[in-house]
Amino acid sequence: MRLTVVGCAGSHPGPDAACSAYLVEHDGFRLLLDLGNGSLGPLQRYADPRAIDTLYLSHLHGDHWLDLIPLAHVRSHHPDGAAPVLPVVAPVAERGRIAGAFGRSASDLGGVFSFSDPADGAIGPFDVAVLRTKHSVETHAIRLTAQGKSLVYTADTGPFDELSHFAQGADVLLAEAGFPDGVPNPPAIHLTGREAGELARAAGAGLLVVTHVAPWDDDQRALEEASIASAGIATLARPGAVYDI
Ligand SMILES: [Zn+2]
Repeated sequence: MRLTVVGCAGSHPGPDAACSAYLVEHDGFRLLLDLGNGSLGPLQRYADPRAIDTLYLSHLHGDHWLDLIPLAHVRSHHPDGAAPVLPVVAPVAERGRIAGAFGRSASDLGGVFSFSDPADGAIGPFDVAVLRTKHSVETHAIRLTAQGKSLVYTADTGPFDELSHFAQGADVLLAEAGFPDGVPNPPAIHLTGREAGELARAAGAGLLVVTHVAPWDDDQRALEEASIASAGIATLARPGAVYDI
């Protein structure tokens, strides 16, 4: 499978990066993990937004889903014709946020999106496992496996033991570092670079890709902390970075 970083900024877009969006492709299937604000623009460099096969929304904070709004426009009003209804995996309890943003009920969006809950099973060619994380709204990490290779995306989460079991042996661990280390952070919201590194080491991951660093924080420092804690397997997510897994 191929992972392309579309956007990787945490909490709000930065001058050089949109918010979270990660394109995962295998066997011609295009799965998008999150579509945060600003990410629909750069997505068009890597894929036709009308050709996305499934969108997985880890949770409904704006930095992970808000570009669903312009995506609906692109898919419904393109001069070449409307795109097929897009399967969107999103937590049911939070789905009213989506409908509210469109000023419609969730069922009224049925011509554009078909919603389903995050669940273990399959999406296209991927075997899928999900895990509820520790965040301020319902959030799910996801593990994708294809041809014996696996990618784990932590989504947003504070540290907890089960996460390292979930990520065990991942070839690539895409882990957030939304909080800086060494300052008092609220519990159960985000990882720091060090915690992302500790997670990668506990999971025995092959490669740690550190992402979701806020534009106002020092990403090089987050990478350094992650590198130390992971024993040197960390790299920093950058828009346009491609990982063949
Ligand atoms: Zn976030």
